[in-house]
Amino acid sequence: MGSPSHSSVIVVGAGISGISAAKVLAENGVKDLVILDASDRIGGRIRKEKFGGVSVELGAGWIVGVGGKESNPIWELATEFGLRTCFADYTNVRYNISDRSGKIFPREIAADSYKKAVESAIRKFRNQEDVGGGDNGSNSKTDSPSTPLELAIDFILHDFEMAEAVPLCTFRDLGESEFSVADERGFDYLLYKMAEDFLFTSEGKILDSRLKLNQVVREILHWERGVRVITEDGCVYEADYVIVSVSIGVLQSDIVAFTPLLPGWKLEAIQKCEIMVYTKIFLKFPYQFWPTGPGKEFFVYAHERRGYYTFWQQMENIYPGSNILSVTLTNGESKRVEAQADEDTLREAMEVLRDMFGPNIPDAIHILVPRWWNNRFQRGSYSNHPIISNTQLVHDIKAPVGGIFFTGEHTSDRFSGYVHGAYLAGIDSSKELLEEMRKRQIPLF
Ligand SMILES: Cc1cc2nc3c(=O)[nH]c(=O)nc-3n(C[C@H](O)[C@H](O)[C@H](O)COP(=O)(O)OP(=O)(O)OC[C@H]3O[C@@H](n4cnc5c(N)ncnc54)[C@H](O)[C@@H]3O)c2cc1C
Repeated sequence: MGSPSHSSVIVVGAGISGISAAKVLAENGVKDLVILDASDRIGGRIRKEKFGGVSVELGAGWIVGVGGKESNPIWELATEFGLRTCFADYTNVRYNISDRSGKIFPREIAADSYKKAVESAIRKFRNQEDVGGGDNGSNSKTDSPSTPLELAIDFILHDFEMAEAVPLCTFRDLGESEFSVADERGFDYLLYKMAEDFLFTSEGKILDSRLKLNQVVREILHWERGVRVITEDGCVYEADYVIVSVSIGVLQSDIVAFTPLLPGWKLEAIQKCEIMVYTKIFLKFPYQFWPTGPGKEFFVYAHERRGYYTFWQQMENIYPGSNILSVTLTNGESKRVEAQADEDTLREAMEVLRDMFGPNIPDAIHILVPRWWNNRFQRGSYSNHPIISNTQLVHDIKAPVGGIFFTGEHTSDRFSGYVHGAYLAGIDSSKELLEEMRKRQIPLF
């Protein structure tokens, strides 16, 4: 084996935070960088797949936080690169809730329950603020939802992070509107456009040898003045610095070993971070049997088990004529479904749809069940920091250790969990690294 390649910076992970970090480095003169990703494509949790004749977004699918006092940088990129999007109109969700016999809850009852749940969420949040935070409200014993309708509304408000109940910086600062990505080129088109600025590309493909795909990083050795990164297939890369952008779930797993071990405060912070599992299941039908038109994009199934095939979206706005429905599961339900055969999931989903639309609807002809929890390069969907953020925790997760810098959505103190959070985190971490390089008088080009 020859001597390992040496560069100024290795970026581990080519999701949006890794790509934005590398772009800022390249723009500031750090051209000898290497980007390593375990999978065979860039994008990480921004991932499209062909399904039922269209391109569906298995991961991030919405640009969340638009129209507020601050501009959402992802919205700016989407506008600049002409990404097709559709306004996601959630205003009617509360009026499209079915019980198990297919009856839609009357408007007044649904509206009243919804209003009470929002008030209760706001009360819980204020109580937490008064006692200094610490949990995300889900443990509160007061006003616990118990009927199927209340459970369904609780799921919509919290697992979907509805702006009126969840006081996140994303909604407060960037705005309460959301847009679905509805572009055949996929959400990851934005990443290719970003990459074009600093990597060699041709006909929509990145051909630059500094991007290395299928490189599963297994060990990062670090000492005072450098790092060595070893991959599963035995490749060795050396550099002055490394930026690690793998997800918090991957950091919590044992896939990447740090030698010497990361300090205790760092390991503790990483282990403390909660992970949300969020799964969008897609079902393709021979024809459409659900109502369409304004206010009908989303519909809800109220079951006595919280989160049991609760939240449905029909893809007619995004891909007219595609006859595709999507249903979202989270956490325990996501893990349960990931562990079972897709045909069992299909059977369960069809039973739910027959409850809502009657026995004569056609069977789905295809199903797609993403497995974010069992994907060893993800181990979950996104970090779930408490709403009243524990700033010390995020600070510790992000803090560099010697030549190792950390980035990714989980390192964003204001916008963790989101694409814009990951994008901005990449920029922040590389600026921090550039500052460090300047202090150590490392020539930038
Ligand atoms: C189902 C789902 C729905 C979502 N919906 C939305 C949404 O609608 N709107 C929104 O704003 N956000 C959404 N998100 C969150 C958003 O996708 C993420 O916050 C964001 O994409 C994270 O980017 P990142 O760069 O931090 O991490 P990632 O995209 O995870 O990038 C990390 C990269 O590291 C690579 N990697 C992992 N381990 C290794 C290793 N050992 N060696 C080398 N490479 C490795 C991975 O392959 C990956 O490419 C969703 C996420 C999921 C999963």
